[in-house]
Amino acid sequence: MSFPHFSEDLQQRREQGLLRQRRMLEGPQGARVRVDGADLLSFCSNDYLGLASHPALIEAACQGAQQYGAGAGASHLVSGHSLAHHQLEEALAAFSGMPAALLFSTGYMANLGVITALLGREDEIFADRLNHASLNDAALLSRARFRRYAHLDLAALERQLAASNARRKLVASDAVFSMDGDLAPVPGLLALCEKYDAWLLLDDAHGFGVLGKTGRGILENFSSRLTPHSSRIIYMATLGKAAGVYGAFVAGAQQLIEGLVQNARAYIYTTATPPMLAVALQESLRLIAAEGWRRARLAQLVAMLRNGLRLQRWQLMPSETPVQPLLIGASKEAVAVSQGLLEKGILVPAIRPPTVPQGTARLRISLSAAHSEEDVELLLDALHQLEPR
Ligand SMILES: *Cc1c(COP(=O)(O)O)cnc(C)c1O
Repeated sequence: MSFPHFSEDLQQRREQGLLRQRRMLEGPQGARVRVDGADLLSFCSNDYLGLASHPALIEAACQGAQQYGAGAGASHLVSGHSLAHHQLEEALAAFSGMPAALLFSTGYMANLGVITALLGREDEIFADRLNHASLNDAALLSRARFRRYAHLDLAALERQLAASNARRKLVASDAVFSMDGDLAPVPGLLALCEKYDAWLLLDDAHGFGVLGKTGRGILENFSSRLTPHSSRIIYMATLGKAAGVYGAFVAGAQQLIEGLVQNARAYIYTTATPPMLAVALQESLRLIAAEGWRRARLAQLVAMLRNGLRLQRWQLMPSETPVQPLLIGASKEAVAVSQGLLEKGILVPAIRPPTVPQGTARLRISLSAAHSEEDVELLLDALHQLEPR
């Protein structure tokens, strides 16, 4: 048996220079990574706070393994739910200022679990056009009517909501858009959800730990315009990015969480996360709250990059988050710039269609509290040298 559709697809990708390749890291994630025996300065992880290889998290994971073993051994509803999971869920609820929280294995699964548990055939989901793939896949799996509105366009969303006679409605949005770094207009989204009786699912994968004075994420970022938290808000965040470990959670009303435990198939039919990771994540929450200097450093590096870049041809897209995309345009050119940086020992990925819209290929520069000012200087110098004049 062969795979003719793959052979065609692979051939095409090779010809168009779109074949994706996995780079192999030979050590931990960080500002510098070891690849093929060489140390590269990396601007391409989501480890925004520099916690992924923090000694305190490693220590907590080891201690968790001593106490609970390496694996959970069963799903949560059978016998895989441990005290470590329970304590983490309580900590996550308290941290995000929500009544209750539920731990999922990954963000992808959290989105699948929540959306398919809330919606069915008679329902409708309204999604920003630039939402993450996992929200789109979840929408399709739910069988609800799937409507997408232009990026950040509240007027377009309102027209769609006003025209809907669906049984249940859910508005879903990335909180920080993963390839753009811009923010969802959360107060406006919530006002529309109130007006048209819809739920609001916020995917804060890139805001959790980063946004807000104490790193609580998008809701803290908008807290002056959002008090108190509405029970329409379904807050989802991932724990493999700024939190530095792995996993995701959904937080919201008690009834929402109880309903998810009974109905979210991506929660029920999968092995529980290793408890050692739940132990490490409790330490991570502690560091996110205690070490505000990590967010201050990030803000300083973002300002340094934005103020220091003097380019004619390539522009940084509007973003105040550690996701700083440099818009290049053509895919080939984006790949060439990425390659040019690599030859100078700097790793920045080129992001091309279909991940981003046609004609908007870009370098996705992501900053981390693990970077130094000298690291950003090196990147600035390299980009200035590479721009054709
Ligand atoms: C990374 C990401 C996810 C998926 O989270 P994982 O834990 O990596 O599965 C979901 N939504 C957004 C917006 C993301 O950036």
